[in-house]
Amino acid sequence: YFLNLSFLLQELRIPFRCFSMTDSAPSNLPIVLKLNNISCAYESDKPAIHNISLTASEGEIICLLGPSGSGKTTILRAIAGFENVTEGSVMVNGMSVAEPHHHVPPEQRRIGMVFQDYALFPHLCVSDNVGFGLSQLSIEEHSCRVEDMLSLTGLTDLGQRYPHELSGGQQQRVALARALAPQPVLLLLDEPFSNLDPDMTYKMRGELHQLLKKTQTTAILVTHDHEEAFTMADKVAVLRQGKLEQFGQPETIYHMPASRFVANFVGQADFIPGEIRDNVVVTEIGNLPQPRDYQGSYKVMVMIRPDDIQIQEDEAGCARIETRQFRGSENLYGIRLESGILIHSHAESTQVYQLGTSVSLNIIATHTVVFEHK
Ligand code: ADP
Ligand code: MG
Repeated sequence: YFLNLSFLLQELRIPFRCFSMTDSAPSNLPIVLKLNNISCAYESDKPAIHNISLTASEGEIICLLGPSGSGKTTILRAIAGFENVTEGSVMVNGMSVAEPHHHVPPEQRRIGMVFQDYALFPHLCVSDNVGFGLSQLSIEEHSCRVEDMLSLTGLTDLGQRYPHELSGGQQQRVALARALAPQPVLLLLDEPFSNLDPDMTYKMRGELHQLLKKTQTTAILVTHDHEEAFTMADKVAVLRQGKLEQFGQPETIYHMPASRFVANFVGQADFIPGEIRDNVVVTEIGNLPQPRDYQGSYKVMVMIRPDDIQIQEDEAGCARIETRQFRGSENLYGIRLESGILIHSHAESTQVYQLGTSVSLNIIATHTVVFEHK
C-alpha cells in the first residue's frame, strides 16, 4: 500500500522549471553584513578587489564563487579585518567596522573564520581547540559551551584526541566547532572542503549545510566549484578578476546569467547566433521566446544549455551526434549543427545513440538568454 503511494507521488512529479526572476524579493530578516562598494589593494596601483557590494541577511548562506585569483579570499579577509579597505565600507549589524580611515580590529568584530587548512592548534586537544576563544566565560559556562559544540558537530567522544589523531573530516568539524563556539554574528569559511577527498566533500557539504541552518548562522563561504555554491548557497556572488559579475539566487545565476563569463563558469553553455524578429528569436535550431526587456541590436548570441535541448533520432535531421559523455545519471551529447557550431544536450542515462547518428532537435527553453553579438 505504502509502496503504491510513493510510486504515485513519483509519477506526479511533473518536470517543472520555476525560479524567481528577481532577486530583490524583500526579506524581513535583519541585514547582518553589508559591503558598500569596497576595494582592497595589495599594491597601490592595482586593486585586488574593486567596488564590491553585497548583503547577507540573518541566517543566509552566501557563496563567493570565482576562479583562482578572482579575489574571494581578499573579500573574506576584508570582512574579518585582516585587510584594510581602500574604498567603501563594511557594515556588521548596522555598524561600520571598516572604512578607509576606520578599522575595527578583527577580535572586536565577532566574526568566526574557518581557514582552508583549518589552522588547528596541534598541541591542544579537541576540547581545548574548541574552547580556545572562550576565555571570557566562567569555568562552568566554558565547559558547557565546549560540550554543546562537540555534540553539535558530532565530536563528543573525541574531545581528548589531538588534531593529528583525527581524519580530515573530523579536523574540519573541530575547526567549525571552534569558530562557532564564541557565537559569532557571522561565520566565514574559505574553501572549507578543499582538503577532503570527493566522498568526504559530499558528506561534509550536507552536514555543514544542515548545521548552519539548524543554528541559523549567517555565513559567507568561498568556493571555486559552482556545484558546491549551488548546493550550499541561498545567494551566490560570482567574481571575476576582483569584480562582482552577478549576485543572486543559484537558479537565477544558472538560468539568467548576466554575462557570458557567468554562463560558462556555472555550467555547460553554448552560443549560437540569433536574430530578434517579430517577438521571437530566430536561430538555426528554431524559434525561441523573445527575451524579457531586451532592447538593442537585433543580432544576438543566444545561450543554449544542455537541458534546453532534447534530441531524437531522425534520418532527415540536419544535426549529427559527434560526442557522448556518459555521466552515470545522464548522457551529455555533443551535437554538430549544419552551420558547424557544436552544442550540447542532456539525455537520459539509458538513451544511447551511436556517434554519427542524424538527429532532430526539440527546444524546451521556457526563456531565452541573449548576449551582444560579437
Ligand atoms: P582567490 O581567493 O579568489 O583565489 P585572492 O583574493 O587570494 O583570490 O587574490 C586576489 C588577487 O590578489 C590575485 O591577483 C592575487 O595574486 C592577489 N594577492 C592575493 N594575496 C596577495 C598578497 N598577499 N600580496 C599581493 N597580492 C596578493
Ligand atoms: Mg583563495
